[in-house]
Amino acid sequence: MSSPAGGSVFADRVLNDWLNSVGLGIEYSRAEANTLYFVDEDGEEVPVLDHVCGFGSLIFGHHHPDITAHAKAALDQQIPVYVPLSRQSHANDIAAVLNAILRREIPGGDGDYAAIFANSGAEAVEICVKHAELERRARIAKLTEEIGRNAQEAREAVAAGRATVAENPYIQLGREGGETERLEQLLAEAGRRNADLIAKGPVHLALENAFHGKLVASVQLTQNPHWRLPFTSLASSTRFLRADRPEAMKAAVEELRTSLLDVLVDDGVVTVVERDFPVIGAFFVEPVQGANGMRPLTEAAAREIRAVCDAVGCPLIVDEIHSGMGRTGAFFAGSHMGLRGDYYTLAKSIGGGIAKNAVALFHRDRFRPEFEVMHSSTFAKDGFSASIALKVLEMLEADDGRAYRVAAERGDRLKEVLTTVASDFPDVVDAVHGIGLMLALEFKDQTRAASEPLREKAASGMLGYCVAGLVLREHRIRVLPVGPAGNSVRFEPSIYLTDADIARTENALRDVCTILRAQDGDRLTP
Ligand code: PMP
Repeated sequence: MSSPAGGSVFADRVLNDWLNSVGLGIEYSRAEANTLYFVDEDGEEVPVLDHVCGFGSLIFGHHHPDITAHAKAALDQQIPVYVPLSRQSHANDIAAVLNAILRREIPGGDGDYAAIFANSGAEAVEICVKHAELERRARIAKLTEEIGRNAQEAREAVAAGRATVAENPYIQLGREGGETERLEQLLAEAGRRNADLIAKGPVHLALENAFHGKLVASVQLTQNPHWRLPFTSLASSTRFLRADRPEAMKAAVEELRTSLLDVLVDDGVVTVVERDFPVIGAFFVEPVQGANGMRPLTEAAAREIRAVCDAVGCPLIVDEIHSGMGRTGAFFAGSHMGLRGDYYTLAKSIGGGIAKNAVALFHRDRFRPEFEVMHSSTFAKDGFSASIALKVLEMLEADDGRAYRVAAERGDRLKEVLTTVASDFPDVVDAVHGIGLMLALEFKDQTRAASEPLREKAASGMLGYCVAGLVLREHRIRVLPVGPAGNSVRFEPSIYLTDADIARTENALRDVCTILRAQDGDRLTP
């Protein structure tokens, strides 16, 4: 955050000022396991317990010695890192492991998914958007081919005097002209209407308070209006559905229903019929909604989402960028609620805390092989991050999945403590959400607090950040708020969280709760 005296600040000027204002403007100098370090004014290294862990990208913590050693060895061996358009078998090695895990964890899953690699989570999501559109375009092409054939049959029937053109509720026909003119008039208008619909982009489905990234297409799948609304003109729109009302999903989807006009010759009469148009591109779902305060999907919602996708014929895209890679006690969080996807996305922890990597997986029944060359990126599938990914997967799968069991056990332990704090402070804590090492403690709304500073901070959405600032200042623990109102504190540490870490966390949270109970707003001001 410091810049040369008198020097201009070119990066993060606004961001750093804001971080300072809430007490989070610390520059860390070292990181190890669940600990970040900064150097204080006396030159002393100060440890900070990190509950954010790279927004959940550090299942094995900062600089796991085995991952670091593996990375060093790979560099010492001068492994080829950037050799695009050559055979890169590491891509298949990673995909083979992921497919084996899918086969094991996902009910009804056959583990036959093709992999396309990316550099970030949002890119993996955008790859899915593109592939879903390819699928949709193929369905539209098939439909328009049929419609074209039917038009030709109608033309032949009318020309041969075998059919006449009936009035229809869709297109009003002029009275003049013979049957041929009337048919051509009908086909021209139907063609115009169909072309308008076909030229439009798809509508995507996602859940309320979803987070799927911040690139051009993916930000439209992320509900937060501040991030999404300025860019709606750039990409397809999204219909956000309520995860807590699965029974209402089908009706919401029905509202989007639209159709192309087709003609059929029936008993000597040309009639107009509607053909269901594939307006929905895909349904994007996080099995645990991280940005929504770590809320896992219910089994009922998972079932209904699968049913909606099957009915509509669109792919179900399970975004495991945050929840995948073992954090919830299984490799795929969706396995807890029996969610089977047509596509999957993974990122974050697949980079082992030192590389950037992401992957999108497509079920073979849907995968369009031409996509392998239609999407590429200079850095994607590089040898270094692939080598790290294979190491991370080996570590996760070792000892019959010990890492998953540890994630579940550590998560349960932390959740137990958070739940105790919640029940001791029912006046200030609303609930504890989450599963495994993807947890959140939700505070009660303070927009009507007795304390003015508390009220103000809550109204501006800053209360969570000020809580994080206090916890950092006074307890040397790094937490951040999460959730649409910023009322929750997120916990997504590595599997190396100790009992002592949990005890410190409990102590800090009890302190925060005591402050909120006493309405001591001044203590939250840095
Ligand atoms: N999807 C989900 C569920 C995420 O949690 C995130 C990142 N928090 C993304 C997509 C975007 O990933 P990235 O930040 O790597 O672009």
